[in-house]
Amino acid sequence: MTIRPSNECIFCKIITGEGKSFIVYEDTHCIAFLDKRPVFLGHCLVLTKMHVDTFYDLSEAQVKSLFVVAQKVGKAVEKGMKAQGSFIGINNIVSQSVPHCHIHIVPRNKGDGLRGFFWPRTTYNSKEVMLAIQNTIKKFL
Ligand code: AMP
Repeated sequence: MTIRPSNECIFCKIITGEGKSFIVYEDTHCIAFLDKRPVFLGHCLVLTKMHVDTFYDLSEAQVKSLFVVAQKVGKAVEKGMKAQGSFIGINNIVSQSVPHCHIHIVPRNKGDGLRGFFWPRTTYNSKEVMLAIQNTIKKFL
């Protein structure tokens, strides 16, 4: 687990009050605030106050408290922004611009311009390839 000194991290600065933010929720372990460049208005970030770089660095207890808060904040975002739904996502290293693990909660509405999962999809060439990949991943579990 990588714990960086808080003075290197912009989100740690928000947590200590040194950095400006618009906090929507805070408890002993977690904090949630408005993303300063939202995909849609009301887009929030939820994170643990303890600095960890990625989702995979969180302890089980941190995963639990983070997701309990994400669920609470996500419901409030949907209600508060009168959204039909929401997208929840975590970037790990790739596309992660702030290396302090955070959950994005983005309010969604039908026809809002984001089409489902906004990535190109591929296909498996055969059941054998799927089986091989299934077994490769299972080896690490
Ligand atoms: P990611 O690229 O997944 O690491 O997301 C980082 C997010 O943090 C981006 O959506 C940024 O707009 C947001 N962000 C960066 N700095 C701040 C800040 N000081 N206050 C609020 N949101 C921020």
